[in-house]
Amino acid sequence: MVDAAIQHDVLVVGAGLAGMRAAVAAREAGVDTAIISKVHPMRSHSGAAQGGINAAVAKDDSWENHWFDTVKGSDYLADQDAAEILTRLAPDNIRELEHQGCLFSRWQDGRIATRPFGGAGFPRTCFVADITGHVILQTVYEQVLKNGVTVYEEFFVVSLIVEDNVCRGVITLDMSTGKLSAVRAKAVVFATGGSGRVFYKSTNSLISTGDGVAIAYRAGAPVEDMEFIQFHPTTLASNGVLITEGARGEGAYLLNSEGDRFMFKYAPTKGELASRDVVSRAEWTEILEGRGVNGCVLLDLRHLCEARIQERLPQIRELAIDFAGCDPVNAPVPIKPGAHYTMGGIRVDKTCASTVQGFFAAGECSAVSVHGANRLGGNSILETVVFGKIAGVSAAQYAREHDYASFPSSALPDQESRRNALFQTTGKEKVAVLRDAMQAVMNEHFHIFRNEAQMAAGVNKVRQLRERFANVAINDHSMVFNTALTEAFELDAMLDLAEIIALGALARKESRGAHARIDYKDRDDANWLKHTVITRSPEGPKLSYAPVTMGKFQPMERVY
Ligand SMILES: Cc1cc2nc3c(=O)[nH]c(=O)nc-3n(C[C@H](O)[C@H](O)[C@H](O)COP(=O)(O)OP(=O)(O)OC[C@H]3O[C@@H](n4cnc5c(N)ncnc54)[C@H](O)[C@@H]3O)c2cc1C
Repeated sequence: MVDAAIQHDVLVVGAGLAGMRAAVAAREAGVDTAIISKVHPMRSHSGAAQGGINAAVAKDDSWENHWFDTVKGSDYLADQDAAEILTRLAPDNIRELEHQGCLFSRWQDGRIATRPFGGAGFPRTCFVADITGHVILQTVYEQVLKNGVTVYEEFFVVSLIVEDNVCRGVITLDMSTGKLSAVRAKAVVFATGGSGRVFYKSTNSLISTGDGVAIAYRAGAPVEDMEFIQFHPTTLASNGVLITEGARGEGAYLLNSEGDRFMFKYAPTKGELASRDVVSRAEWTEILEGRGVNGCVLLDLRHLCEARIQERLPQIRELAIDFAGCDPVNAPVPIKPGAHYTMGGIRVDKTCASTVQGFFAAGECSAVSVHGANRLGGNSILETVVFGKIAGVSAAQYAREHDYASFPSSALPDQESRRNALFQTTGKEKVAVLRDAMQAVMNEHFHIFRNEAQMAAGVNKVRQLRERFANVAINDHSMVFNTALTEAFELDAMLDLAEIIALGALARKESRGAHARIDYKDRDDANWLKHTVITRSPEGPKLSYAPVTMGKFQPMERVY
């Protein structure tokens, strides 16, 4: 057994919205709480969220409508009890953020303004212009500081320590010194964000590499529904940067090369504001059928006029000018679908508990299953605050009821050997080369439209990359901020996730939400209304299936 130098009742990994909200809740419940994050909290990807956060705060709206839209949007794969919690608690969470100082945009009469978002039956997306995530992250960070949560920033977690199915803590790398240490905790919460960087030109930050999901999977926690990757309809072709759905929410049109607003062909009622999977498939079909503009379609905001664009969408105007060379005030912006969001993640129940004792997860790295096969825009930052808080409360309760479990003596030396092996190998492979190759494979073989032969070939290519990773060499052997080393750890994680995504997708012989197969075009509720669950075994990833929690909404044909 080792004497871990650092120990905390509750240890949260991740300082995005989910992690910080969890830490504040645990601290408020009276237990000693710390956060570990590989970047400064304010650099977490949550800070990039643009368009808004959903809640039925408007007079004529109701949380039940929001619940239904969420379940329909998920293509009926969301657990309806979890989606109920998300939507029922949403308005109170907005009010709480407001009381903590979050400056939501408002109507003239002072009420919180809401904008329409895709797949929603009512305009229920609250926002702060187009910098919503940044402002909410600032608000929650203030609460972290106020409540005396310890923050270890620029510490990189490399493994989760589980023995006899009980979580004991983590091993973490202090990036400023290169030192690996054991951190004990009574309860651990992972809030490590999405895995967007498994794909090419994702909208996600460079840090969204899915480490937490892979680390939990390796430690024995099952992962769920990872084959469902959201391609966002409006990303810039040059670099994958996001143009918020808020643009269409404010009234922007999608046009093809013939100047047609083509969306009404695919979604007769909602048009541009159908749910994201529907819009991305429509755009891609237009492009495949020759009605694209240099591999893109056009997002036209011109009719909104300069004053409104400047008031509601100032950031995306800047992004379009800087990265697409066009000002949306007087020219349509070329956009295309890009990898954006990981619907699946670490499998947890409604209290955010995984099947590993003392191990919890919340936010984009988790699958409490409110998004099912397709997430609605604006529901993700809502999930981080609602379920972040629940995870913190659950972890604090667990920590009060349990003592520190012993920490296996091999855990730290194992990770030191892993790092040393990366330094000492004489292999010739480079992290950047393998990462580019993996992203290209995932975009080519697991894109918006999928089929058997293409996916089977993709699985083989991912496995070949995993074999090549054994020969990865790192030239930089320094101990101070060695990003070559952390990038190798990130790639190691992403290769696991690429295989999990690929296997789940290949096995699912239907089209549901973001998983669209040209060889199985229909949703097949009789055989596939179930969650994919993947667990690590000595023979490799083991697939099984788990029932979806149904409720009052029976699956119907999904039209917009
Ligand atoms: C450009 C963009 C715009 C978006 N806009 C919206 C929107 O308008 N509305 C909406 O609802 N959703 C939006 N989303 C989605 C939403 O922002 C994210 O799903 C959500 O913010 C994720 O929050 P999180 O707390 O789960 O993770 P993140 O905010 O991604 O934070 C992850 C944290 O984990 C830490 N971490 C990860 N790995 C490790 C490790 N190995 N060791 C230590 N720390 C680690 C990181 O340092 C970071 O602090 C958007 C996403 C993007 C990319």
